[in-house]
Amino acid sequence: MDKTILTASDVWTNLSEEVQSLISKQTFATWFEPIRAVGLDEKSLTLEVPSKFYYEWIDRHYREVLLSKLKTATGKDLKVRYSVVVGEEADNGESVKEPKMFTDQRRDASQYYDNGSRLNRRYTFDSFVEGSNNQLAKAASVSVADSPGQTSFNPLVIYGGVGLGKTHLLQAIGNKVLQRSPTPRVHYTTSEKFTIDFISAIQNNNSSSFSERHRNVESLLVDDIQFFQKKEQTQEQFFHTFNDLYQRGKQVVLTTDRHPSELYGLKDRLLSRFQSGLIVDIQAPNLETRIAILQKKAEEDKLEIPYEITELIATNIRGNIREMEGALIKLLAYSSLSHSDITMPLAKRALRETLGRSGTKTVSIDDVIQSVSEAMDVPEKKLIGRGRKMEVAGARQVAMYLSREIVGTSLENIGMHFGGRDHSTVIHACRAVKEKMKEKSDLRRRVDGIRSQLEF
Ligand code: ADP
Ligand code: MG
Repeated sequence: MDKTILTASDVWTNLSEEVQSLISKQTFATWFEPIRAVGLDEKSLTLEVPSKFYYEWIDRHYREVLLSKLKTATGKDLKVRYSVVVGEEADNGESVKEPKMFTDQRRDASQYYDNGSRLNRRYTFDSFVEGSNNQLAKAASVSVADSPGQTSFNPLVIYGGVGLGKTHLLQAIGNKVLQRSPTPRVHYTTSEKFTIDFISAIQNNNSSSFSERHRNVESLLVDDIQFFQKKEQTQEQFFHTFNDLYQRGKQVVLTTDRHPSELYGLKDRLLSRFQSGLIVDIQAPNLETRIAILQKKAEEDKLEIPYEITELIATNIRGNIREMEGALIKLLAYSSLSHSDITMPLAKRALRETLGRSGTKTVSIDDVIQSVSEAMDVPEKKLIGRGRKMEVAGARQVAMYLSREIVGTSLENIGMHFGGRDHSTVIHACRAVKEKMKEKSDLRRRVDGIRSQLEF
C-alpha cells in the first residue's frame, strides 16, 4: 500500500496486531480493544481512549512498545497523542473532552459523555440492575422519565448512602428524556456546580443567563443537594428556580445522601416542598443484587469474569457499589500487569488491597515474594528455596531486588526471608537485576509491572 494514503485506522490495525502478539488476550481486551485511532498526520497518530485512566495506564506501560511498533509500521518517528472523550468522571465534572479532532472514520467522539447535557450515556435504566433495595426508586424514576411533570412524583427526591446508584438513576432519567425528545430540555447539575455557577453569575453580573439556563427547561435534575445545607443565598436562588419550574408543571428530581428532614440548615419551606412530592430511598443491595450488578458491569465492558470471582467480590464488599467496581478494575489492572488471566488468587489479592486501603499500606517481603511468584510463574517455595535453575534463580533475584527497593529493609532481613542467605548474596542479586534491566527492556517492563502492582 502506498504510505501516503495510510489512514489512522490502517496504522492502528497494523499496530494493534503487533501488540496483540506480545500480550495476553485479556490484557489486550482490557486496554487496547476500546482504543480507536482518530487521526494521523506528519507528526503523530492520535488515539481516542475511554478515560484519562486508560491514557495514563497505556502511556506508562506500553509507551515504548507503541512507539517502536509505530516506527515499524510507518517508517517514521511519530508521536502518539491521546484524546480522552468519555465522561468516566462525569459526576464530579472532571471529564476531559478535548476539542474534537478531525477523524477519518467520522465516529461520534462523545460516545458516552454528552457535553451538552452533562450526562454519561452509560447510566441508563437498562444498565441499572433492579433489586429489592432500589425497586421503588427505580419505578418512580422510570415514571418520571416517561412523563416528566405529569405525575404526582414532583419533585422526586431520591436519597441513600454513597455509591448506591443515586447518580446513576438521576442520569438515567435524563438519558431517557433525551432519547425520546429530539430537542430535550433536560438539565443535569450538581448542587456544587449550581452553587459555583450561581456565584460566578453574580460576580460577572450575569444572573439573568444563570436563571434562564435553569428555568428554561422541562426537567431539572440536581444531584447531591445535601451540599446546599447552610448556603443561604444559593438555597434562596434554588428555591426560586424550583418554585418557578414547579408552578409551570416542570419536573424536578433531586438526590441527597440522607432523608431531606435530616438536612440541617435546609429552609423549612424548601423541605415542605420536597415533602409534597415523593421521597424514596435506595438501600444497600443484597448479595444477589450485588453479584448481578458486577456481572452487568463486566458484560458492558465485554469482560469474561468467572462467576465465583464476582461472588467473591460481592461477598466481601457490601455497602458500596462504587467500591465493588473499584475492586473489579483493580483486578483487571493486576491481570493486565502480570500478563495473566483473571484467577481466584489474583482476585483475592485485588480484594485485599481494596479492603485494606483505609489504612496506610505497607508492603512486606512476603507480599513481594507472592507477587513475583504469580507474575513470573515460579512457586513461592522455590523462590525461597535452594534451587539454582535459571528461571528460579532469576525470579529470586528480582524478588530480592524489589524487596530492597520497595520494602526498604536491611539486606540481612531480606536474606533471612530467602532461605537464610547472607547479605552479600542480596547485594549481588540487586546489582545483577539492575544491570539486566538496563540491557533488557522486556525484563524492565516486567519488573516495573510487578512493582506498580505492589505499589498500586
Ligand atoms: P451515588 O450517586 O449513590 O453515590 P452512583 O450512582 O455514582 O452512586 O453509583 C456508583 C456506581 O455503582 C456507578 O458506577 C453505578 O453505575 C453503579 N450502580 C449502583 N447501583 C447500581 C445498580 N442497581 N445497577 C447497576 N449499577 C449500579
Ligand atoms: Mg452521586
